[in-house]
Amino acid sequence: MRFDILTIFPEAFDAVFSVGVIGQAVAAGQIDIRVHDLRAYIDDPHRIVDDRPYGGGAGMVMKVDVFVRAIEAIRADCADDTRVVLLSPQGKLLKQQDAVRWSACNGLILLCGRYEGVDERLLEFIDEEISIGDYVLTGGEVPAAIVVEATARMTPGIVGKYDSVASDSFYEEKRLGAPQYTRPPVFRGLRVPDVLLSGDHAKIAAFREQQAWKKTMRNRPDLIGLNVEDADG
Ligand code: SAH
Repeated sequence: MRFDILTIFPEAFDAVFSVGVIGQAVAAGQIDIRVHDLRAYIDDPHRIVDDRPYGGGAGMVMKVDVFVRAIEAIRADCADDTRVVLLSPQGKLLKQQDAVRWSACNGLILLCGRYEGVDERLLEFIDEEISIGDYVLTGGEVPAAIVVEATARMTPGIVGKYDSVASDSFYEEKRLGAPQYTRPPVFRGLRVPDVLLSGDHAKIAAFREQQAWKKTMRNRPDLIGLNVEDADG
């Protein structure tokens, strides 16, 4: 799968994509991540990517023409099913299912905003506007890295044991993953639950299932249709 990222800060991605599972997948050629400097697509003697907002107001707005020129240039040699995704706090909330859906495509083009965001007309040239959560960051680079992380690990063959993906939080069932423990068996008086040391696989599976639901009730009652007051009370 191929990821094309459009940003004015290409260097922001160097560390994230060179380590761990993603780093290995890049090195093995399983995923192809291309980070493009948006400034390379400026076709204007002043070489600007942003300008003052019409109607006034604080800050600067990223120009639509630069992004569209870049999208069209990148699209020209991408697979037909490539999706163009704008990272924006005004987008639809990113869900695990989006990562699953995108992992079935051959490519994603990710657009990172900065400043006060992008000219609204850019929405006519993209497929999806996606937010990573109800908070505002200074740029779309961290959100784009999150989309690459979430999508790449859903591509079969990238996470070593595909099984470990299926038991994670949010996968298929709308609940969190089960709590995990590793050695030592006792730490400052805190014991690993006995059942996990029992070797009884059926019992362990039942225990994990129960704990996963318990934790979902406690931390994310919204996932199972309860509201926070219900769970706290
Ligand atoms: N003025 C905008 C916020 C701009 S934040 C507003 O009021 O909605 C600047 C850039 O950071 C955005 O263009 C976007 O690319 C990125 N960004 C900030 N928060 C984000 C979030 N929660 N999810 C995805 N992208 C985000």
